[in-house]
Amino acid sequence: MIDLHIHTTCSDGQFSPEETIRMAHQAGVTVAAVTDHDTVSGIVAASAAAVACGMTFFPGIEISVQGGMELHILGYGVHPDSDVLHQFCAKHAADRTERCGKMLAYLQKKGAAITLEDVRRCNQGKTSGRPHFARTLVELGYASSVQDAFEKYLTTPEFYARVERPKPTPEEGIRVIRSAGGVAVLAHPHQLKLENDALDALVAKLKVVGLQGIEAYYSRHTPEQTQFYLHLAEKYDLLYTCGSDFHGPVIKPEIHLGTGIDKNLCVTDAAITARLQAAIAAASRRS
Ligand code: AMP
Ligand code: FE
Ligand code: FE
Ligand code: ZN
Repeated sequence: MIDLHIHTTCSDGQFSPEETIRMAHQAGVTVAAVTDHDTVSGIVAASAAAVACGMTFFPGIEISVQGGMELHILGYGVHPDSDVLHQFCAKHAADRTERCGKMLAYLQKKGAAITLEDVRRCNQGKTSGRPHFARTLVELGYASSVQDAFEKYLTTPEFYARVERPKPTPEEGIRVIRSAGGVAVLAHPHQLKLENDALDALVAKLKVVGLQGIEAYYSRHTPEQTQFYLHLAEKYDLLYTCGSDFHGPVIKPEIHLGTGIDKNLCVTDAAITARLQAAIAAASRRS
């Protein structure tokens, strides 16, 4: 199976890069990419673990950009030692740190009095992602599940308007990925909650600024959505990819490595790997 969307403890996943790759191998994944949020700090360890398991591995990243509430761009084949990428990641790590203080003040105002120490205690010392705050809200009884915490506090209009950190434009995100030798792919298009024509128009716009692919197969896509995203890929001459968005059972309990939700993913299409490898090779020839 192919799984090109996986998170580790380097962002908001539950397992270390090595553990995650070993688990993917055991689950039957033969082609994998680690795509942590705004960081490539897990790539070297994940890549070594993948080589040891005999897996095909793509170094990856997932960048949150402006436009829509959750517009994410995946980068594949990025060089983890790229200066441009490092500067970008350092800036966004600092913005995440600043957002922590704002989130605590905002949650306090909403009656959920949690502290940074609470977040650290519930998340093995980690505080960088909204899922870390969501878990803490669940553990301290302010939400019934991670999903509930997101709905009540972390994806509200007020959160986006007053608390969310500054994000790069889609153009800038795509440019950073491509300057680091990577291939830029639109993540989980269903999350944009756009109707058919509106999504078509957005994909057209992103293509103009350098988008090269679309994550057509994804744990939360219905078969009809997947067909539509494959159609968009063909229409705009984009690659199509597949990914589970595995984070671990504590954060996304229903999502499994390689197989998705109730085995709805299980993608084995070798063309995905071959085309992505060709696009990455073309990118490195250009850079
Ligand atoms: P951050 O990068 O810290 O802003 O958080 C992004 C993470 O939040 C990703 O792992 C998303 O999957 C997760 N996320 C965003 N919206 C939701 C939601 N409604 N329910 C659960 N997780 C979400
Ligand atoms: Fe995440
Ligand atoms: Fe995402
Ligand atoms: Zn993700």
